[in-house]
Amino acid sequence: MSLCYQCGKCSAGCPIRFYMDIAPNKVVRLIQLGLYDEALKSSTPWLCAGCLTCSARCPNNFDLAKFMDAVREIALEKGVEVKEKDILSFHEAFLDQIKMHGRSYEVGLVAEYKMKTLNLLQDVDSAPGMFFKGKLGIMPHNIEDKKSVRDIFKKTSKK
Ligand code: SF4
Ligand code: SF4
Repeated sequence: MSLCYQCGKCSAGCPIRFYMDIAPNKVVRLIQLGLYDEALKSSTPWLCAGCLTCSARCPNNFDLAKFMDAVREIALEKGVEVKEKDILSFHEAFLDQIKMHGRSYEVGLVAEYKMKTLNLLQDVDSAPGMFFKGKLGIMPHNIEDKKSVRDIFKKTSKK
């Protein structure tokens, strides 16, 4: 993180910045200053879409998108209350699918997300279009070596 000299180029190009409570570069700054609680409580890491624009724009090759991932996981480890409950449900549902199948399985992801949030009708109108474009496979496509992926989850999970 010492690579970041707060030029703000990342935040200037972030497509989600408008919705965030703290600019992405400011989250880095908070951590640099040791203000961990403020950074971990921010909605910014949860709203981050992981689009990598910031990482591509950084003149110092600081991978801000990866940093946001780390901040999310540390917030969960520390038991910080996440204000964006639906995004947390999506995050958990996505990782559960990776754990089970070794890759994303959209139908399982949607089903788990809807069970967790009870947003049963959310985005249902886009389902037929996605289905006919082949974006929603009925059956999961498991990778061959699912065990290796599960081992990564085991190694990195904290009690
Ligand atoms: S673009 Fe890079 S150096 Fe500039 S503020 Fe963002 S992370 Fe820091
Ligand atoms: S990865 Fe996140 S912080 Fe970076 S530009 Fe995309 S949405 Fe913004």
